[in-house]
Amino acid sequence: MSTDTRTGIGWDSHRLTAGRDLILAGVSFTHPDGLGLDGHSDADVLTHAVMDALLGAAGLGDIGQHFPDGDGAYAGADSLALLRLCVERVTEAGWRPVFADTTVVMERPKLAGARAEMRGKLAAALGVAEDEVNIKASTGEGIGFVGREEGVAALATVTVVRVA
Ligand SMILES: [Zn+2]
Repeated sequence: MSTDTRTGIGWDSHRLTAGRDLILAGVSFTHPDGLGLDGHSDADVLTHAVMDALLGAAGLGDIGQHFPDGDGAYAGADSLALLRLCVERVTEAGWRPVFADTTVVMERPKLAGARAEMRGKLAAALGVAEDEVNIKASTGEGIGFVGREEGVAALATVTVVRVA
């Protein structure tokens, strides 16, 4: 018997650097030291983790296979638009996302005030209700690359159901 529900996991990290925007789930944040996330696209680390979890749940590989860094088409890309492309590919493969749980691991700034907006943007891109997306915040407790504010990490799970 085939499985009708699957869950995929995603992990991503990006370097914090000056002169870049800090975008998480499509929402812009202001870091107290003016740092942002470095990367080929808009470096939206949370959306990337969700994309990998979604692709994983559908058995479609990973973000690097779908959107190669060497492809100029994705330079500075809006990661929420890339997530919508992932949803299209997952849909074509016969799956529909139904739930996402996520964790952002970052020292500063706090996410709290933006959580509802982040949820809304991820939910819209995934095509699910806002209460089917959960966003958690954690820190590096001053240790490791997150604690030293060298980077930001994100984790996600996405659950999909078979529709075809
Ligand atoms: Zn990434």
